[in-house]
Amino acid sequence: MINDSSEDLMREKNAQLEAIIDNMSDAVLVFDKDYKPIIFNNAMRNFFTFFNANIKHCRDLFDLADYYDEDDQLLTFDELPFDSILNGEKVPPRVFIVKTKTDNCIIAYFSISGGPILDDEGNVLFGILSGQDITKLKKCEELKKSHEARILSIEKEKNEALLKIIEMKDEFLSILSHEFKTPITVINSAIQAMELICKDELSAKGKGFLNKIRQNTNRQLKLVNNLLDITRINSGCLKVNKKDKDIVLLTRSITESIEIFAEQKGIKLSFSSTLGKKVIGIDEEKYERILLNLLSNAVKFTPDNKSITVNVCQKTINGKCKVCVQVRDKGIGIPDDKQKLIFERFGQVDSSLSRQAEGTGIGLYLVKMLVEMLGGEIMLESKVGLGSKFTILLPVEKAKETPIEQLLIEITDKRMIQATAIEFSDVYL
Ligand code: ADP
Repeated sequence: MINDSSEDLMREKNAQLEAIIDNMSDAVLVFDKDYKPIIFNNAMRNFFTFFNANIKHCRDLFDLADYYDEDDQLLTFDELPFDSILNGEKVPPRVFIVKTKTDNCIIAYFSISGGPILDDEGNVLFGILSGQDITKLKKCEELKKSHEARILSIEKEKNEALLKIIEMKDEFLSILSHEFKTPITVINSAIQAMELICKDELSAKGKGFLNKIRQNTNRQLKLVNNLLDITRINSGCLKVNKKDKDIVLLTRSITESIEIFAEQKGIKLSFSSTLGKKVIGIDEEKYERILLNLLSNAVKFTPDNKSITVNVCQKTINGKCKVCVQVRDKGIGIPDDKQKLIFERFGQVDSSLSRQAEGTGIGLYLVKMLVEMLGGEIMLESKVGLGSKFTILLPVEKAKETPIEQLLIEITDKRMIQATAIEFSDVYL
């Protein structure tokens, strides 16, 4: 039997409990097994007073508004967690979007979770739903998303404009280079004709001038050829033409072809190989450009009487066999912070007018592109004052459908002499 004082105590406790629930910031709805709301706290009431309605059954909530899931799918009463809670399930937090019935406007985003209240035997007495109004959070997220999308689209527009400018610049360079190439080729032919026909009639001074004209014409030709190749590679017009060649013999021949330039600077040039012979598919002309470019830099940036070595060996990297070609010099070296820059277009360590060597800063950019076209990669190790080591790794693969008879090569032809003269045109001795 309950006496007056215990009744008072229970009433006081109930009032305390109601006050606590009423003052909770989360919206709380307690409903019985007939879906009738028992407790509707202040936060919940505040939210639904917007609709000015009197809730007698949880289903009445559907007369007030429409409910959507996060994928914007309209939900039915059965899809809200009332049934599962009354079946004894705990419902983890789920986001619902509440919209007006008339014009489908978003009223709020709600994160709702809930569970059953059980008696001592585990039977469901009530269901409890608690919800948090996360509208501000969602709006912030949406704002952030739309800002990100806007930034992304601005970046995209900027990149597209930049690509267009680069394309236009390349086109302009290509037209200009073609325009330069024709007169340079004519001058070159005239020089060759003079050397053939009337060299003996020229005085020593005249021959000196002719030499100067030839070297500077070759320099112009090197620049024009490099620019044309870069624009051709960028537009996908430069094709790789691989044939099976002995890479050791090819490298030795290219190295020997520049001996005269090294000798004139008193530079000791040596070649070594741990391989006797190694036949791989290689585009001879492109490989020659690569190696001559590296060698002409080595001669340019190595002081008199120091040394340059070229070495060929074989390496296995990540289980794949590679031919490794190294050009090492005891020259001025390249500072750490400039080592990446020199492989970029117009990248030079010292671009001031007072720098000691001639050049345009596009040689290594082209070398990198050509090496990559051959399926290889190029690396640099360098220490200022001690020298530089350029390493090229080439894939060990045979060229497709190359007759075996083509394996032996003769590289003392005129093309090689001309190519060397052009690549070394900015090495002043
Ligand atoms: P450049 O026509 O100026 O020689 P490159 O692209 O061939 O253009 O080289 C870019 C720059 O890299 C050079 O200007 C030079 O500063 C530096 N460089 C290249 N090779 C060497 C080397 N072997 N030793 C020192 N510096 C080098």
